[in-house]
Amino acid sequence: MAIRELKVCLLGDTGVGKSSIVCRFVQDIFDLNALPTIGASFMTKTVSCGNELHKFLIWDTAGQERFHSLAPMYYRGSAAAVIVYDITNEESFYTLKKWVKELKEHGPENIVVAIAGNKCDLSDMREVPVKDALEYAKTINGIFVETSAKNAINVAELFDGISQQIPPLDPSERY
Ligand code: GDP
Repeated sequence: MAIRELKVCLLGDTGVGKSSIVCRFVQDIFDLNALPTIGASFMTKTVSCGNELHKFLIWDTAGQERFHSLAPMYYRGSAAAVIVYDITNEESFYTLKKWVKELKEHGPENIVVAIAGNKCDLSDMREVPVKDALEYAKTINGIFVETSAKNAINVAELFDGISQQIPPLDPSERY
């Protein structure tokens, strides 16, 4: 079975739960102490998709998102970007829109964009209506799910959605 390495970058405000989402996806736990993220780093997880294996190389900005000039390094060569906001923090949703704009202008062509509205376990503190995020995701042709890294809601589905959007390799390109 063909294995494809797919770089995925995580973008979004500090504190929205990017590292927690990776930790949940890769190790299925909610414990940031388990993550060795100091500075830019990546973790891998392989999932099957049809006749292929997708090995995700997930790059986490690890708190360096304020250093905007570093951003191109994260998304360069990415097959997909997961842009995370916190459903209890409206400002993080505006930041997400800025990231989408940046990716559309400077990111790789055909990059798959997936939007994760994280911390959906805290819905009583919600500031961003599902409807607004869903409508926005449609306008940019992006994947959208609300996730909870804490309660393991929709995290695997988020990456499954990305896998589905990656066009299969031409048989002649397989190895
Ligand atoms: P990052 O800066 O975007 O990487 O965010 P972190 O993964 O470091 O998470 C920031 C804070 O939000 C931490 O205190 C996490 O425990 C918390 N957090 C992350 N995901 C969730 C979630 O799904 N639900 C709740 N309630 N808290 C979360």
